[in-house]
Amino acid sequence: MTIFTKIAKGEIPSWKVAESDEFYAFLDINPLAPGHTLVIPKNVEDDYIFHLDEATYAGLWAFARKVALAIKAAVPCKRVGVAVLGMEVPHTHIHLVPLQTEGDLNFRKERPVLTPDQQAGIAASILAEYEKL
Ligand code: 5GP
Repeated sequence: MTIFTKIAKGEIPSWKVAESDEFYAFLDINPLAPGHTLVIPKNVEDDYIFHLDEATYAGLWAFARKVALAIKAAVPCKRVGVAVLGMEVPHTHIHLVPLQTEGDLNFRKERPVLTPDQQAGIAASILAEYEKL
């Protein structure tokens, strides 16, 4: 079982920002910017997004779209950027990153340090916006 499956099952804690029957979204533990979110399928551990079946692939992106709208409403940013890497965790995930500049999507940049309370507050704000959609 991957670490992200354990997160989706609640066996490992996470700052949840959205959830549906099939998909789960939570804050990145080491965010590129405040509000950096990971979107995953709950029940598919394949580590390569383009291996997903078409229905799961389309559903994941549709869910990510709603999460991005909620992030944009909750976190001050110009827009929400998208990245798919999967170089570290072998469980398909989409990164949604609030952007002020294109440099905010540089995965090698120094990352802001956020306290657990700050992460919890950001997650609650995004979840509240998600629930309005
Ligand atoms: P990637 O696999 O796309 O290269 O990067 C994996 C991402 O997952 C990284 O941005 C990393 O900070 C994040 N990450 C790794 N382990 C955990 C974890 O246990 N919890 C959370 N919330 N994020 C994680």
